[in-house]
Amino acid sequence: MAVPLNTKHHPQGPRWATRTTEETFQCRRCGACCTGEGVVNVSEEECERIARFLGLSLEEFLARYTVHEEGFERALIDGEGGDAPCVFLQRNEKGLASCRIQGEAKPRQCRDFPTRWRRADTHKRCKAFADDGR
Ligand code: SF4
Ligand code: SF4
Repeated sequence: MAVPLNTKHHPQGPRWATRTTEETFQCRRCGACCTGEGVVNVSEEECERIARFLGLSLEEFLARYTVHEEGFERALIDGEGGDAPCVFLQRNEKGLASCRIQGEAKPRQCRDFPTRWRRADTHKRCKAFADDGR
């Protein structure tokens, strides 16, 4: 839990000027934003959507995939692995990252990162920003 400032952080802190915009942003699927220290906040409504997406009851989803975290509504738990991956992070045989939750069911915090919010040092961890010459 040593790597700070990624998607898993709640969107607080300063925005960072960059050439990368929603139109030009191209995720490199490195997965850095879904690992390390941080919290994915999920509202009750988002929990209901994710539960439906996974085919689970709300109660089952809450019990299996979320915890109470001070200052947040609900937080997704970490999965297995030394780099503290989000429980919904998956990688293909080439190591490319993707999220098990797709479309509207994906938490707003994750859908908005990093083009609508990001931390001041996101450009140091996000491969897409590095490739953009930020
Ligand atoms: S919910 Fe998906 S996009 Fe959000 S941190 Fe977890 S794996 Fe990444
Ligand atoms: S390129 Fe950036 S947004 Fe895409 S997975 Fe890597 S850190 Fe996350």
